[in-house]
Amino acid sequence: MIHDANGNIWFKGNLHTHSTVSDGKLDPDAVFQLYKQNGYDFIALTDHYRFHKESVEAGGLLCLSGAEYDTGRDVWEGIYHITAIGCTEEPALSNAGEKPAPQEIIDEIHRCGGLAVLAHPAWSMNTVEGIRALHDLDALEIYNTVSGVPWNARPHSGDLVDRLALYDSFIPCIAADDAHFYTGDACRSFIMVKAKTCTRKALFEAIRRGDFYATQGPEFSVSVENGEVIVHCSPVRDVVFTSNIVYAADRVTRGAHVMEAHYRIKPGEHFVRVELTDANGLRAWSSAIPVSNC
Ligand SMILES: [Zn+2]
Ligand SMILES: [Zn+2]
Repeated sequence: MIHDANGNIWFKGNLHTHSTVSDGKLDPDAVFQLYKQNGYDFIALTDHYRFHKESVEAGGLLCLSGAEYDTGRDVWEGIYHITAIGCTEEPALSNAGEKPAPQEIIDEIHRCGGLAVLAHPAWSMNTVEGIRALHDLDALEIYNTVSGVPWNARPHSGDLVDRLALYDSFIPCIAADDAHFYTGDACRSFIMVKAKTCTRKALFEAIRRGDFYATQGPEFSVSVENGEVIVHCSPVRDVVFTSNIVYAADRVTRGAHVMEAHYRIKPGEHFVRVELTDANGLRAWSSAIPVSNC
């Protein structure tokens, strides 16, 4: 939990974690302890096709209910891994026999009151067309720790987020570990949520308002004022503004201790997205921000 200079409270959470209940290496209690010790306020255990109910663990760590549902045989057909966060009853989804279609998974998660999050889209080789065919995703993982080196490849889905934004598909972006507890794949990528209390209700309301950001450490806020996208942040090395304009002279602000960066919105610009990297290589990501009418 962080109190910022404006009196806001920010809660730290990881919404994608496995345990020995599926293919993770730590049992649930050890997972809770590890995340609590690392300053997390909430997590979700999202074992494959195994539903964990909400609980409050030792030290006050909120464990939102969770599960991960995957479908699709190959990238041609489309592979979709969708996490269910905060369902108030277990989704009626099974991997015995034919797996459910992705939209069926999303709809069932919503019927049970949860958030449907598209996990690691770059790793799954999801396409713009494939994602746009889905309705009502609540978020996607712009960064997934365990999809990265040394465990795997394609952890970062920023390019896909930009292409989706080009087609007016502004899906909120989170970062998550997808921790399996190999070595070093836990407590790396998370979200910070601005809320008054750390409860399912308050966190959901904040996430739906967009009062959160994805990060590995850098803290930041983004505002759009007078035709500019403005970032205030903890000291970082780079602030990068991506958009559909292929060249912009002010795309990167670089320095030893950058704490503020401005980007002038250009004619024809449809969206702007922000990525930050600090001196230790830790990154942070905004969602794509529509700027057509700014
Ligand atoms: Zn997955
Ligand atoms: Zn997973």
